[in-house]
Amino acid sequence: MRHEHSPEGLPHYDLYIDGDWQPASNGQTFTVFDPANGQPLATCASATHADVDRAIAAARAAFDQGPWPHTSPARRAEILHAIADALEARNFELAEIESRDAGVPLRKTTYNDITLGLEILRGCAEMARKHPYEPLPWTDLPSVSWNFVWREPIGVCAQIIPWNYAFCMAAWKLGPALATGNTVVFKPSSLAPLSTIAIFQTIHELNLLPKGVINLVLGPGGEVGEYLAAHPAVDKVAFTGSTEVGRKIMALAAPQIKRVTLELGGKNAMLVLPDADLDLVIDGVLWGAFYHSGQLCEAGSRLLLPRSLHDTVVERLVERVRGMKIGDPMDLETDLGPLISERQREKVERYIAIGREEGATVAIGGGRPLGEAFANGHYVEPTIFTGVRPEMRIAREEIFGPVLAVLAYDEIGEAIRIANDSIYGLAASVWSRDLQQALAVAQRIRAGTVWINEHHVLNPRAPFGGYRQSGFGREMGQYGLDEYTEVKHIHVDLMQRRQGRLWWDTLLPE
Ligand code: NAD
Repeated sequence: MRHEHSPEGLPHYDLYIDGDWQPASNGQTFTVFDPANGQPLATCASATHADVDRAIAAARAAFDQGPWPHTSPARRAEILHAIADALEARNFELAEIESRDAGVPLRKTTYNDITLGLEILRGCAEMARKHPYEPLPWTDLPSVSWNFVWREPIGVCAQIIPWNYAFCMAAWKLGPALATGNTVVFKPSSLAPLSTIAIFQTIHELNLLPKGVINLVLGPGGEVGEYLAAHPAVDKVAFTGSTEVGRKIMALAAPQIKRVTLELGGKNAMLVLPDADLDLVIDGVLWGAFYHSGQLCEAGSRLLLPRSLHDTVVERLVERVRGMKIGDPMDLETDLGPLISERQREKVERYIAIGREEGATVAIGGGRPLGEAFANGHYVEPTIFTGVRPEMRIAREEIFGPVLAVLAYDEIGEAIRIANDSIYGLAASVWSRDLQQALAVAQRIRAGTVWINEHHVLNPRAPFGGYRQSGFGREMGQYGLDEYTEVKHIHVDLMQRRQGRLWWDTLLPE
């Protein structure tokens, strides 16, 4: 890997194009900061349009002329397993990189993110082995033929990811694209690109992929991302990020009718039924709402409580929030780290002010934690609002921070209506001792994932994605792989000669 130190002595990372690390063509760089203390962590090359052109040209050549799209699924699977093994050998280092770069508590990166990312890569490898061929049933047509579906890679895929969950996200974008024979130009968020760079570094050192199959461009979304998504030589855009940018991506992809998958925002409900086990609910709601300080698309940001349980549950939640440890993400004991940037903190604080103005009550939190340790990080206290009504902005808009809106309901039908009254439809959870009742509620919730007595847990074999403005397309599982393939029907005639008759003549009664 080409890596130097910047003039300030920071590690420096270049772009990865056509199997080589390269600086930006105009020498421009940007700095990556540690969100826990505001200190610079590294500098990165900031790609120009010419660099993006070169990355796309490399991916194009690797697809159009290269062996990769035609490499056997078994070989591609072997390579993906080798990548997963090499990343696993760097497990703790990767967890540290991600925690420092994105402010994610080390407990989460060490015990969840890296493991999940590797599991996804390995799952893609296994699914790819059996992927391309699907026989079709015999038909009653007199013309005798053998029919099957052959799945083929789409081509050059632009993959754009946000800063949260970066390692996992990179794994769940690269895994299915590579397993099915596509080539990639990848753009991570400039707020947290370091774990993605580490993945590319690992793959480069393994030296198993042909040149140009994966390429990495770095830099601001409005410049690099937009140019990449609009580029006529890109066949598919796989985007994860905000709904606002997702709308732009769809428009940018429209002129070429590019394939698009969009994994966007959420305003996910945690719906507690009257018979729920409250011990489970308290643990689950804290986990759903405050994991990674609420900076997860599937975070439970609305809590729907039966009016009869409202005060008890809120009291217990407040008590537990008081005991949560906010602080240095590198400390394994930390429950909540900082937000990613000052801009994100300002956004979250704006919403807290809006909640107050709208008449909701802050049951706990609402400010910044005090003390020297928090002075330069982007920290916000875990915050619970009560007295929230469905029409309030804090109940409708994605805040992406540690802010939970609690709404009371009188009957289950009303709770389901509130849960579904959203432009989003990414995820939800239902809490009940009665699994039959919980299932009936889960079936009526319009969201891509519904957990029962759980939240957040992603399953590498299950599809993940949204309804409505949470996006479309699915990631992970067989559905995730399918999104990276074109479906080709192949018809093999078995009649051979037709004694001079045309095809439709063979359908005439004898
Ligand atoms: P964002 O939309 O600001 O940025 C996402 C990525 O897009 C970044 O790499 C960014 O540089 C790039 N980008 C920005 N503007 C662009 C443009 N005009 N054209 C092309 N690319 C552009 O999102 P964020 O703040 O990084 O991440 C938080 C958002 O991501 C939240 O809304 C969250 O819900 C969503 N998210 C969704 C999922 C999911 O799977 N549904 C997962 C994680 C995060």
